[in-house]
Amino acid sequence: MSNLDLKPAPTTCGREADTGPVHDLMTGRQVPLGESTVVNRLLPNLGRRMVGAWCFVDHYGPDDIADEPGMQVPPHPHMGLQTVSWLHQGEVLHRDSLGSLQTVRPYELGLMTSGRAISHSEESPRPHARYLHGAQLWVALPDAHRNAAPAFEHHADLPVVTAPGLRATVILGGLDGASSPGTTYTPLAGADLALTEGADLKLPLVPDFEYAVLSMSGSLDVDGVRVEPGTMLYLGCGRPELPLLARTDAAVLLLGGAPFEERIVMWWNFIGRSTEDIARARADWMTGDRFGTVHGYAGARLPAPALPATPLKPRGRER
Ligand code: MN
Repeated sequence: MSNLDLKPAPTTCGREADTGPVHDLMTGRQVPLGESTVVNRLLPNLGRRMVGAWCFVDHYGPDDIADEPGMQVPPHPHMGLQTVSWLHQGEVLHRDSLGSLQTVRPYELGLMTSGRAISHSEESPRPHARYLHGAQLWVALPDAHRNAAPAFEHHADLPVVTAPGLRATVILGGLDGASSPGTTYTPLAGADLALTEGADLKLPLVPDFEYAVLSMSGSLDVDGVRVEPGTMLYLGCGRPELPLLARTDAAVLLLGGAPFEERIVMWWNFIGRSTEDIARARADWMTGDRFGTVHGYAGARLPAPALPATPLKPRGRER
């Protein structure tokens, strides 16, 4: 392939007009996930593909699943990324081809590193809590680590940073000197900010990181811009701190990291660097044993969709 760009033009955070501090309010789009869940997809979005190495952000719920199966995502493969399961309500039972069997509960980190190949299923256990509310996030692996061995981590006791009106749980990377035990491969930040109504504070940031804030519930002003549930405000880089004002009790995700400079090909559940990477992964899922086997899921595994007719183009963090 001739369109595999291994040396994208370097971008220095804060030097280009669109990478300094900005306000870019993004609404999601509704996407069916599995048979009975609809998610609100914030990333990738029309104008933006990544925030740091965060490359996929789905917000779902709160959904009343008292009389529903809830989340039922059959075994499917991943390559070149990490998945983060993050819950505010309910629980998700994770199974993977390494043999992991783990119930992930609210404010616990379920972190799966696919490396070169893994497969997993995610389901609401039976019985399950009435409400399901959470986020499914992906982190792109840099080229040097994208073929690493697969791994699953579960961290139930994450560091918490507090300030008046704020309780911040550090999901991945760091915030205000606290660090998540979750393994990362690029400079990253992911935190859950629980704010009480009227909380008025400045959150310390890393100026070299770009950030975005997603409201999972409640309304707040982020640097003067109102953020409502289900919307995400992209903030750019170059900020030593971030003014937050909670208009109601609010729970928001802060996602950030060093701008991801590599161009990637993201298709279905795979991240590669070329069409060939993706086509090989798809073929291996459909016919090979590279992605292993998920045991115990009551149902068939997900077949891969057909590859698009035109070659997949490696893309940068913006469209
Ligand atoms: Mn998955």
